[in-house]
Amino acid sequence: MAKKKEKKTTIEWDYAPAPESTSHIEVKDRYDLYIGGKFVKPSGGKYFATYNPATEDKLAEVAYANEKDIDKAVKAARKAYNEVWSKTTPAERAKYIYRIARMMQERARELAVIETLDAGKVIRESRDVDVPLACNHFFYYAGWADKLEYAFPNREVEALGVAGQIIPWNFPLLMAAWKIAPALAAGNTVVLKPAETTPLTALKLAEIIHEAGLPAGVVNIVTGYGDTGAAIVNHDDVDKIAFTGSTGVGKIIQKAIAGTGKKATLELGGKSANIILDDAPIDQAVEGIINGIFFNQGHVCCAGSRLFVQESVADIVIKKLKRRMDTLIVGNPLDKNTDVGAINSKEQLDTIAKYIKIGKDEGATIHQSNCKLPKNGFYCAPTIFTDVAQSSTIVQEEIFGPVLTVQTFRTVDEVIQKANNTPYGLAAGVWTDKGSRIFNLTTKLNAGVVWANTYNKFDPTSPFGGYKESGFGREGGLHGLSAYVKLK
Ligand code: NAP
Ligand code: MG
Repeated sequence: MAKKKEKKTTIEWDYAPAPESTSHIEVKDRYDLYIGGKFVKPSGGKYFATYNPATEDKLAEVAYANEKDIDKAVKAARKAYNEVWSKTTPAERAKYIYRIARMMQERARELAVIETLDAGKVIRESRDVDVPLACNHFFYYAGWADKLEYAFPNREVEALGVAGQIIPWNFPLLMAAWKIAPALAAGNTVVLKPAETTPLTALKLAEIIHEAGLPAGVVNIVTGYGDTGAAIVNHDDVDKIAFTGSTGVGKIIQKAIAGTGKKATLELGGKSANIILDDAPIDQAVEGIINGIFFNQGHVCCAGSRLFVQESVADIVIKKLKRRMDTLIVGNPLDKNTDVGAINSKEQLDTIAKYIKIGKDEGATIHQSNCKLPKNGFYCAPTIFTDVAQSSTIVQEEIFGPVLTVQTFRTVDEVIQKANNTPYGLAAGVWTDKGSRIFNLTTKLNAGVVWANTYNKFDPTSPFGGYKESGFGREGGLHGLSAYVKLK
């Protein structure tokens, strides 16, 4: 009997769109500077626009602070430090910080939506990671404010004074929390500058801080470009600079403050190794690789951007990895189904495209997800490069996008050497079934954080920071607090 020819039908399953509503949020047309407890116009009268990178729509205009404005903000912070904050009891300081944390929680949904609109990151991450972690940082440091003598036993603890803080665009609200919470808990006052492409949640935080009744000038939030940041760094009356951003700007800052007596913590770039040993639980490791590189579009300083797979399991890991990468939903960051959102800016998209071209030109093999990218907005398909060498540009330099390089290794000693052969030293991941292998690797990898059988786990109690060109100083935990105190 002749076989009936089977009709080929392919069913493509799509999730129904599940966009988060924006009806409950208010974004004003224009934002001023928050200085001395008031929203004030910039002295030069200039404003610049911030955009939604997912649609290229303009969201708002924010003030462009010049040197005069920074001088005003530093003077307000100094006055608040001398006259109010240094005289406020630690228990009172704690109450303010707790109040800010609770108000942020109450407005969590609003903060998450604004973060997604301004930064392009997916709502699932801003809602479930950025905003809760930011609140937790305030809660955690509020707890320390009146226990400094236990944090640093047998030492006299004094605040530094005025802290100048400059943050990047990848975790805008979270970075503001990492900076402001420990500074206030230790008794300092603050002048903070968010990144030019993502100022809105810091300005919402200014509104919350204002409503919380924090004394005028204790926290000042100033928006602007790189020269606004430089004006903070170069101001004579700033006692400490806390900077998170690129290694290039970190070096400029280090030169600028050399010999001034200003204290500094620098949280800079990274090129972290994610290491899969032959006894690793493969499916979990694949999830860890995906999370390590595609979380927040790869705009993560500690992204697991260099994958090392032991040769005997390389074929299966790479096969599963490609298959999993193909399932990632790329698109509207406000949709709760979306896994990978928009690239933060046109400039960053150009940088990523430049590195993808370099990768191809240097002979690496590219694998890209065949997802459909939206017409408007800045998007990049998740990308994996195999056939790379330790000396490849895309292995050596930070791309800060959804681009992973894959290398293989035979022995543990070999992978330790390769993983450490980088100018950076921020983070690493190790995947294995054996505790002894974890201990061996974690002690030998030159990285501030090493995750075992997980990746991108953050907690306010645990210190974070790097070695070498990834910077110095730690944020989070007691280490983060010690960066804001003088111990006598
Ligand atoms: P960036 O260009 O260094 O900018 C960071 C901040 O510094 C921004 O607010 C920027 O203002 C300001 N700035 C620029 N030039 C300045 C100058 N000369 N003096 C003082 N401030 C200046 O870095 P990014 O591109 O925003 O952020 C990405 C980088 O941050 C990556 O390298 C990433 O690895 C790193 N990062 C590190 C960590 C960590 O914890 N180690 C965390 C997150 C990100 P504008 O926005 O106006 O340029
Ligand atoms: Mg923006």
